[in-house]
Amino acid sequence: MSITTSFPTELITKYGLAGPRYTSYPTALQFHEGFDTEAYRRHIQNSNDDLIPRPLSLYVHLPFCKELCYYCACNKKVTSNTRRAEIYLAHLDKEIEMQGSLFDRDRQVVQLHFGGGTPTYYDDMQLKHIIEQLSQSFLLSRAASREFSIEIDPRTVNEERIAYLADIGFNRVSMGIQDFDPAVQKAVNRIQDEGKTLALIDAARKFGFNSVSVDLIYGLPLQTAKSFEKTIDSVLTARPNRLSVYNYAHLPHLFRAQRMINSEEVPVAEVRLQLLASTVTKLVDAGYVYIGMDHFALPDDELSIAMEDGSLQRNFQGYSTCSETDLIGMGVSAIGKVGNSFVQNRKDIRDWQSAIDDGELPVWRGLGLSGEDRLRRGVISAIMCQGRVRFAEFERKYRIDFADHFALELELLKPLQDDGLIVLSEQSLEVTPTGLLLLRVIAMKFDEYLIKDMKGKAYSKVI
Ligand code: SF4
Repeated sequence: MSITTSFPTELITKYGLAGPRYTSYPTALQFHEGFDTEAYRRHIQNSNDDLIPRPLSLYVHLPFCKELCYYCACNKKVTSNTRRAEIYLAHLDKEIEMQGSLFDRDRQVVQLHFGGGTPTYYDDMQLKHIIEQLSQSFLLSRAASREFSIEIDPRTVNEERIAYLADIGFNRVSMGIQDFDPAVQKAVNRIQDEGKTLALIDAARKFGFNSVSVDLIYGLPLQTAKSFEKTIDSVLTARPNRLSVYNYAHLPHLFRAQRMINSEEVPVAEVRLQLLASTVTKLVDAGYVYIGMDHFALPDDELSIAMEDGSLQRNFQGYSTCSETDLIGMGVSAIGKVGNSFVQNRKDIRDWQSAIDDGELPVWRGLGLSGEDRLRRGVISAIMCQGRVRFAEFERKYRIDFADHFALELELLKPLQDDGLIVLSEQSLEVTPTGLLLLRVIAMKFDEYLIKDMKGKAYSKVI
């Protein structure tokens, strides 16, 4: 399915409601502290005992940054005191060892992601050290099909470092660009050289990275549709395999860094819509496939192929082509998914470190999924990844009558059908090309927790 060529401005204005991004269902808002270390250990044991245990994904959170970007809402620590980052690393070593000892050693790691913060805050030797620690505790795949990715801040990397990252095993890279406009960069305190950044994309190709992904943000202070188009044109000259274009949510009451931004310079809703409209049009015209939820990919990219053949998955990093894995999150605030459970590490660095000092897994909270959660997770995933729900599949797997079980939800979906976002029949729900831009509005109708509590005020705007 490809996105509609006419941009549905009115519908996006109409449905510009609060909504989760569904990188997980249930979302992290449902995690609770009753899910503790013992519960986590039980879920790991059950997953090891599966007849055919799932392969593993590892997420390593490296939270340090040298400078503060004013728009940032991540869990990060801005410091030039590298000693703190060294202490963090020593604790990470121990967590890797503890987590590794719980999973059967023959479960292969097919996916690895270093996220942050700024993973490239650490120097080459330190990054290599983390990889070595991981390979001592886990069986890391050497297959070309493995997805080992790292987020890089182009301000901390040069061509030699790109070569080094390839050398130690990474084969995917994602780069934060956000915007090349000098005035916007100044307003968000992220000065980044355009030529150098584009050269790094070429370098990544040269050194064998098989996917280069770029992050942009629309809705930043001082952006105009014209200035942002210029950034996109420039990025397109390097033709990254994937692009994520995120919406900046200005919430200075929640995120201290954003108080440094002059609220009056943040584009109003009308301009944001123009920014989004011109971005989508430009990227689709340039031959990119709209995957959903801010993600675009070249037609020959695995994401586009997986979308076409129905194997696309959604995970905490966005979209993925990996078949179902158990995800182990390591580092402060990292989230994991093992079997039918989610688990999250302590979110304060000192708390995370002190649990590890006490020889404990630094579990903060989590959730064991009920049968109903699993059913709804499947339906939401089908909407987000395949753009369709075939009722019979769920009836067979969960022994339900879909129309009966979801009578309320199907009723709630009717206005969306009237507005042309979906087509409902007795057998299926199909997302239309127009609805592709409003996937989470559709998914929200199956979110039992939102239905119970329609307030949803804690979520960012859909667009
Ligand atoms: S946007 Fe990235 S580099 Fe900037 S402060 Fe946030 S985590 Fe650090």
